[in-house]
Amino acid sequence: MKEHWMTRRVVLLLVTGILALPLLSGCATTGSGDLFGASPGKAKNIILLIADGMGPSQFGAAWLYSNQALKKDLKMVEVMQAGRTAYLANDTADSTVTESAAAATQIACGVKVPARAAGMGSDGKTPCKTILEITKERGMATGLVTTSGITDATPASFAAHVPHRSDEETVAAQEIAAGVEILMGGRKNFFLPEAAKGSRKDGRNLLQEAQKAGYTVVGTAEEMQKAPAGKILGLFNMGNMAYEIDRASTKEPSLAEMTTKTLDVLSRNPKGFFAMIEGGRIDHASHRNDAAGTIRDMLAFDEAVGVALAFAKAHPDTLLIVTADHDTAGMALIGHSKDSKEYIGIDLGAIQKATGSFELLQAELGKSPTPAKVREVVKKYTAIEITEDEAKMVVADTIRKLDPANYSYAYLHSLAFVLRPYLRVGWGSQTHTASPLYAFGVGPGSEKIVGFRHNTELFSIMKAALGN
Ligand SMILES: [Zn+2]
Repeated sequence: MKEHWMTRRVVLLLVTGILALPLLSGCATTGSGDLFGASPGKAKNIILLIADGMGPSQFGAAWLYSNQALKKDLKMVEVMQAGRTAYLANDTADSTVTESAAAATQIACGVKVPARAAGMGSDGKTPCKTILEITKERGMATGLVTTSGITDATPASFAAHVPHRSDEETVAAQEIAAGVEILMGGRKNFFLPEAAKGSRKDGRNLLQEAQKAGYTVVGTAEEMQKAPAGKILGLFNMGNMAYEIDRASTKEPSLAEMTTKTLDVLSRNPKGFFAMIEGGRIDHASHRNDAAGTIRDMLAFDEAVGVALAFAKAHPDTLLIVTADHDTAGMALIGHSKDSKEYIGIDLGAIQKATGSFELLQAELGKSPTPAKVREVVKKYTAIEITEDEAKMVVADTIRKLDPANYSYAYLHSLAFVLRPYLRVGWGSQTHTASPLYAFGVGPGSEKIVGFRHNTELFSIMKAALGN
């Protein structure tokens, strides 16, 4: 028996050795243990993609929609298949439920921090050194991109230091002063004085100051495409950039287009680059319990992931991380329609027929709509014909009245509840939740994006990937 076992063992070793030969020779030519053939030790470039508000159900809804309605898989799945996946906790110094400033600061600086401060350490008052600042000190190029405001909490936490995220005038000035090469997003108002229809009370015109500091300032997709390589300040909306579902009627670039431009410009630096690219409006759509708006912005984010993944494949010395800052609103893909007796699940066809965001829908409803108006507007934006009784429930806004602390948008939560059996999408609140998140990674340093991690560890993973 022993001899037999030994023989099998020898054969197994031989077979394993033969199978391993091509892998080993691959390693010899690329110096690699990584799936894209990169050095496992050192990353020249870091691309960090953050889907603001992407909990597991936002991911799941996008995956179902992409595969079943659009007949293609998510790029995020490709990152998972080629790389690694971790489950991610995101509790903060002072709460089990985070907001974006604390979440982004924890990723940027690697320590647990209190809510609302951006780029501040554990006391909420002392600036912490961010991964963007560390890469900049090394001579690497840096970029921040979002579909929300470029002064909003997530980008702010990487390049600015303010005790409260609402101080966006200071954030705008600090981002320019920091010399972040690429700054793209919305909220142009924080760069302009009141005299120029902005909201700055100090009278400064940061667009002019940025131009003097060497930035090309652009305001449309076309201008962005034409901008020469170098520092670019792209501000495409006085407020947030449009929801993806509403974007076709604007001149704004998509998140994927901004990502392409950013990687093209930053990758010219021979020392490499750090880029943080945020899908900022997934969060906003989920806050409003807008299922179609959420899914469309998830897909726009996924396209940006595809751009980054293609770059990482062509440049294997790139650490690519895809993650979220928190779940928003406890999205739930529920089972039954009004008349189904068995599980039927999300109505992807109905999601596909939606024509506008709940933000536009709410604006059109106005302050005190009649049930007839509710039926008309809901049909216009969702193609769903709700009943007179259901419209009356929306007008009564019962869901919001039951828990005003956790439901803050007039009519939208009651509407989302009425739409539950039509769409089979439910919502636990309008606030963020403590749901664990995903982190996907590929490239040098991504070996550590496995198992259960805390979002503070993403900082040390990125820093370690840079080497000494
Ligand atoms: Zn939020």
